[in-house]
Formats: sequence, C-alpha cells, structure tokens
Amino acid sequence: MSQILNHEISIEKTNYSRIKEQDINNTSFGKVFSDHMLVATYKNDSWQEVKIVPYGNLEMSPSMSSLHYGQAVFEGLKAYRSPDGKPLLFRPEANHKRINESAFRLCMPPIPEDIFMTGLKELIRLDADWIPTQDGSVLYIRPIYFATDESVGLKPASSYKFIIISCPVGAYYSEPVKLIVTDKYIRAAEGGTGAAKCAGNYGGSLLADMEAKQQGYDNVLWLDGKEKKYIEECGTMNVAFVINDVVVTPKLTGTILAGITRDSVLTLLRDMGVKVEERLISIDEVVKDYQDGNLSEAFGMGTAATIAHISTINYQGSDMILPPVSERKYAPQVLQRLEDIKTARVTDTYGWVCQL
Ligand SMILES: *Cc1c(COP(=O)(O)O)cnc(C)c1O
Repeated sequence: MSQILNHEISIEKTNYSRIKEQDINNTSFGKVFSDHMLVATYKNDSWQEVKIVPYGNLEMSPSMSSLHYGQAVFEGLKAYRSPDGKPLLFRPEANHKRINESAFRLCMPPIPEDIFMTGLKELIRLDADWIPTQDGSVLYIRPIYFATDESVGLKPASSYKFIIISCPVGAYYSEPVKLIVTDKYIRAAEGGTGAAKCAGNYGGSLLADMEAKQQGYDNVLWLDGKEKKYIEECGTMNVAFVINDVVVTPKLTGTILAGITRDSVLTLLRDMGVKVEERLISIDEVVKDYQDGNLSEAFGMGTAATIAHISTINYQGSDMILPPVSERKYAPQVLQRLEDIKTARVTDTYGWVCQL
C-alpha cells in the first residue's frame, strides 16, 4: 500500500495561552502541558488528517482497541535552548525510526516522515515559548501512537491516532540512584517486546519498581528473562559499568531497548579514546569486580535523566556501594559533553542537533 506523502498540517492556534499561569522553570515532572498538540488520524488504509490544535481532551469509545489489547507505543525526546535562546531538538529522526520499529512489532502501520518530523517541528516551533530558560530544565516531548478501532475483536486495528504533546520539566534526578537487582520479575524475554517502546512493557514493570521503592531503592536492575544472570537495563534506562577503565554495557540482544542516549554516549566515549565494550555482562562478574576493587562507576542512560549516576546496587541482600560521583572519571565527563552538544554550547560534529 503506498503512503500518500506531503500531508498538509492544519493549525488551529489557541486563543488563550496558559503559559502566563505557569512558572515553566519550576513544574513537577509531566503534569503541565504546553498549549498545543499534534493529532494525526489513520483509517481506511491511509493517513487522513494531520492537525495541530489546542491541548485538550480526546473523545474515545469504551471499546477503543488499544485499551483492551495494548497496541500502543510511545517516544520521549526533549527540546533545548541554545545559549542565544534558539529552540533545538536532539536526534529526532532516531525517535521517528524507533517509533516505526516499535509500531512494526505491534502490527501498526508506519508513521510517514512528513507527519512525524514536520509535525514535530511545526508543533515545537509553535510552542517554543514553553521551552524553559533555566539550566537543566527542558521541554519534554511525548509522541504517542495507539489503536482506535471500536471493537473488542482481537486483531491488528485498522484505525489509529498519532499524537504529540509536550511538557516543561526540571532536572530529572538530582541524586545518584540506588538499584536493587530483581530475580523475581523480568521486563523482557527473547522473542518478546523488550526492544519496542510499547506501553505494556511499562505497566508490567510497575510492581517490581514499587517493591524496589518499598525496600528503599530507586529502581530495579533487570536481569535477562531466561537465566536471570545477565544484566539488561536499570529501571527504564540502559546501563553501563566502568571496569578497569573499560566502559562495559549490555549488548543489544533483542530484549533491550536501543536507547538513543546509549548510542550517543558510546559514540562520544569512543571518540574520547575510551575503550567501550558491548557484550553480555553477568551480575556475578559485576559482583566479583566490585569485590576486587575494579568497579569504579555505574550509570543509567536515557532521555529523561541523560545520565543517572548509580551509587548503590543491592544483590541478594547486600549493597555494593560505589565511589562518590566526585571521584568518577567517565560518566561526568561524557554527560557534560553530551549536554554541551544538545544545547549547542560546543560544535556538533555528529549532525545530531536539529534546529527548528
Ligand atoms: C526509552 C527507554 C530507554 C532510553 O532510550 P533513550 O532513547 O535514550 O531515551 C531505555 N530503556 C527503556 C526500557 C526505555 O523505554
């Protein structure tokens, strides 16, 4: 089926901007939304309508199929400001590619480039005033894509909505995070949906996350679903360890979400001359390296936090306490470099930064 290209985007501007009521540099994460949203509709085998409208509620049927069977995927990216105030996006085409890979796994049609990329840029240009000016605060952008068939018959839906909303957010984690390894729950298994950013993966992780918090930890460190031996991810982030001055991160086996932050961090580290290994890494290996004094750093990687330093990892009842962040060499340096690129404080030689 051929996609009709050059979808026209209609724009209905709000006649009342809520920005005056908000201190956008000080909002709690994900609760205040910018003035507009993009809404695109797929039905009868094609993308029908693409519009930017004032942010507001949607009408839905109680039989809406994504509520029943979970054909729902999403993305997360951020808009930044350059030192002279210009709005910037970071690698948005990678989010476009990934939402289509997630969509493929869930039997959903691809979103054409002119809807995702042009729609995203138009929307953020229109709501650019919502990008915070304070250091560390940004506009978080959430594309969502879900099935809208009015039917409880189980099959790939024939109608969908693709929506983009955004919200100003402050710095995500200020403190280093404490993790607890779970061998009770898994987030993904071979052949499953772990590599797709689909809604169901997150619903399925909440109980493990809640139990981790009840035990005094911030997030779960996930092991593989088969042997419960190899490290996969932490919370909803990719994870890396510094062992004997080598940055080691789990390789993408199909059960791990291929993070754009992960890819950016690994690229920067390699270009800084750091040795990077993408391979299987067992929890036993990490414990042994910790005991031998070879584990100097551990960190999570994802758009929300960029890099989250890990202070503690609990495995089978004992805490491994890692060196303080002030003594770390690699993660703080690569975090600074990545933030400088994202905010155009240094020249982007990678073609990652996207002007609006
Ligand atoms: C989104 C996500 C990540 C991080 O991906 P980024 O592209 O870096 O934001 C990692 N793991 C999971 C499970 C995720 O959902």
